[in-house]
Formats: sequence, structure tokens, C-alpha cells
Amino acid sequence: MTAVMNDKYEAVIGLEVHAQMLTKTKAYSNDINEYGARPNTNVSAITLGHPGTLPKMNKKTIEYAIKLGLALNCKIADHQYFARKNYFYPDLPKGYQITQDTTPICTEGFIDVVTKEGKESRIGITRIHMEEDAGKSIHDVDIHDTLVDLNRAGTPLLEIVTEPDLRSADEAYAYLTEIRQLVRYLDICDGNMEEGSLRCDANISVRLKGVAEFGVKVEVKNMNSIRNVHRAISHEIERQIEAIEKGETIYQETRNFDAVSGTTSAMRTKEAANDYRYFPEPDLQPLFVSQEQVNVIQAEMPKLPKELLHKYTSTLGLSEYDARILISSKPFAHYFEQLIEATDNYKAAANWMIGEVRSYLNNQGKQIEVFPLAPKEMAALIALIEEGKISTSMAAQKLFPLMLENPAISPLELAEKNNLIQDAGEDEITGWIESVMSANPTEVERYRNGEKQLVGFFMGQLMKVSKGKADPKSANKLMREKLEA
Ligand code: ADP
Ligand code: MG
Repeated sequence: MTAVMNDKYEAVIGLEVHAQMLTKTKAYSNDINEYGARPNTNVSAITLGHPGTLPKMNKKTIEYAIKLGLALNCKIADHQYFARKNYFYPDLPKGYQITQDTTPICTEGFIDVVTKEGKESRIGITRIHMEEDAGKSIHDVDIHDTLVDLNRAGTPLLEIVTEPDLRSADEAYAYLTEIRQLVRYLDICDGNMEEGSLRCDANISVRLKGVAEFGVKVEVKNMNSIRNVHRAISHEIERQIEAIEKGETIYQETRNFDAVSGTTSAMRTKEAANDYRYFPEPDLQPLFVSQEQVNVIQAEMPKLPKELLHKYTSTLGLSEYDARILISSKPFAHYFEQLIEATDNYKAAANWMIGEVRSYLNNQGKQIEVFPLAPKEMAALIALIEEGKISTSMAAQKLFPLMLENPAISPLELAEKNNLIQDAGEDEITGWIESVMSANPTEVERYRNGEKQLVGFFMGQLMKVSKGKADPKSANKLMREKLEA
């Protein structure tokens, strides 16, 4: 199958992502915008579209849209209006959604993505527009009836539409991972696909390699994780190729993804598609965005993952692998940023974050936001190692756990109290070296006959008998002197 795919066919994919904005209130009313509230409690007459009510623009949504547009290299439209998209559905009490049809706020952008296999590609962003969400129909709570929760109705959304530039499920995976990271860094959406605050519809077609025209596309819906988007696309590509190979026709239709079977099934065809009868929303004024407004937002943009990645790999000299772990979440990167304010040892700072700090958080099932140690305490720990007061292994195995239990006490004080400082004098170290040498006469003989690498063995023995109290640098020097003697 995959072989046929590689030789003969090529997939073409365009993605439509809906991101629920993290505003306090809804898009066009003062109703609270929150997930998980008791059903139908955040619903006013405006959300219900009762006669005589008027929508009111939530200015935050414009700021969020522009932020995302700037992050995705888009043009920001200076003049826009809103439109009504009319359709009947039980969870759409107004009978229409307010959206942007012909004048999206952001257009002509792009994002560069890298797949797991290291393939780089630039994905065009056709448009980003603002709109409102519908309510939610719940089919699986009551065995007889469908329930409707209108809390979600009127929640502000950003819809991000790509050009048909993607060519594989892996690229879609990389694209969605980047978009999710970006909206989280911008603090405009929590990016949670399981809860539906980030949703993706995938448009997929296949064509013979070398053919210029696109094939007929199918839209696949209802994937609640990035992994499921990947599964849905892989399956759909395979299904379309098999159909074409059998001489069947692909119809433009919407298909549903079933996560249990990993397959798609027809939902509705193009013929049954809605005619939304878009027309300009008469209750909202046209929107004007000045260059000054854009400049103010541009100046307030936080550092984005791409910038941090560049800084960590070029200025700080870290590996790309390490840098990607450091930027994986904004709070984690923020902690690292504070840590490198407090220490110049960037490599050590990165190693601690990626190693001990991360495994502590994983083991505890905690996020960096509740990590008990302040960045300056971690910097103090790194300084103790640099000054030769404590060994790296002693720091990781003994001091770091003690610090976690006693976050108010400085690492130096903790190390001193617990007898972890490498403060053995030359005489003491020499004594240990002599005892190690007399306990291992054969190894001494072999060393003296040229097996110089045995110094590692002796150092290991020394660390054992000294219980970590010998500074390895001076101990190593003394050890060599004694062995050479
Ligand atoms: P529609 O009119 O069905 O809404 P659009 O042209 O607006 O279609 O495109 C919707 C999405 O489908 C976009 O992301 C676009 O890139 C993608 N798309 C368009 N044509 C194709 C195709 N032939 N194969 C795959 N994706 C496509
Ligand atoms: Mg369209």
C-alpha cells in the first residue's frame, strides 16, 4: 500500500483549525466564557439571539486574532466587516453564526514546520478569521434524548485555514503541534484538543504523481487529538487510493473519523451541503484596524518558540535536541530564561532542567509552575558544583532531593549540614589514595605497566572510600602522581 503511494500517488491536504479564545467573556456578549460550568448557566438573551438584543464586539478577540496573524506572518486587514452564516441546528439558538466571510482579519501568511523525519516545509496560511462557536449537542448522556448545552454558544473562535500545501499525515502532525505550541505561547487558546478548545478538520485528496490538478477532496471531522488527525489522514489517503485503483469515483463529501476503528465513514455529500446565505451582519459595525494598533500589539508580543530555539542553539550553544525540550512549554522555557539570568553556565542549566528537574516533575505528575525551587536556588546549586564544593553526582543524588524537601534553606547550608561538601584536605586524600593502592596491588602493577586507563578504576575506588568528600580534580592529580611514583 505505502509502496503504491510512494510510487504512484501523492496526497494533498489542507487543514482548518478552530481555536477557542481564552477570553473572560464571550465574543459578542458579557456571558462568562468557561469550560466545564454547569450546563446552560452562561447563557444570556444575547447569546440566545432574542429579538431586540444586540451583539457587542469583545475587543480582546481582535487583539488575539492580530497576535496570531503576526506570529503566522499574515497581512492584517485594515477594514473588515462581520457576516451572518445562516443554518438551523438545535445547538444554534440564533439560527446563525456571526463570522467573517469575505474580509478575514488575517490573510496570506505562512509557517515553517519540520517533521519527525526532519523534512522541512513551508505551509501557506490562506486566512484567519474571527467567529463564534455554536452550543453543544450531547448524545451520550441520556439514552433516549439528545441534550443541548448552550454554554459554548458565542465562545470566540479563530479559524485558521491553510493552503492545500501539506503532503502527508506527518506534515499535518508537525503543523498542528506548532500551531498548538504557538497559541499557548501567545496565551490566546489553551490548545486542549481533548476538551475541544482546539479542533481540526482535514481536507484530503490524492492525485497521480506529476499531475498538476488536485483530486476531489474529502473533509474529515471529529479527531480529538493530534495523533488522531494523523491516523485519520493516513487512513483516508489509503482509502482513496484503494478506491481509485478499483476504478471507483471519489465524491466530495464530509466524513466522520471513528477513533476506535481508526477509519472514516460518510456523513454528508456535497449535494446535501448547506447554503449558508451569508450576508453582512447588520448589528455590528465594520471593524477598522490601524497600523498603530498593530504596532502596539507587535511590541507586546512575547518571545515565540522559534526565537527561543534560535537563541538557545546559536547564542547559548545548546544542541537542537536540548533546545526543543526547553521550549516544549512556555512555562518551562520561562523558568529556563530566569535560570540563565542567574547563571552563565548555560549547558549546566540546560542539563539540570532536562535531567533532574524534568524527571522530578514527571515522577510527581507536576508542572514547572509548582516546582518548589526558585531559579536562583538552582543557580546556587550549579555554582557549588562549578566551585568544586560538591560533585555533580553528589549534587544530583543527595543535595537536589534535600533542596526539594527544604526549599527555604540555601543549597550551601544544606550541603554543609549534611556533610556533602568536598572539603577533604591533601593529607586526607593522600591517605585514601594509599589505602586504595594497597588494596589493589595487581591494578597498580598493570597501571605501571602501561594500562593508564585504570586511573578511572582507582578514582571510582577513591570516591567510594572518601564518600564523595574528595574534590575529583585535585584527587585525580594526586592519584596520578602516586601511581607514577
Ligand atoms: P470549501 O469551499 O469546501 O470550503 P476551500 O477551498 O475553502 O473549500 O478549502 C477548504 C480547505 O480545503 C482549505 O484548507 C484548502 O487548502 C483545502 N483544499 C482545497 N482543495 C483541496 C484539495 N483538492 N485537496 C485537499 N485539500 C484541499
Ligand atoms: Mg471554504
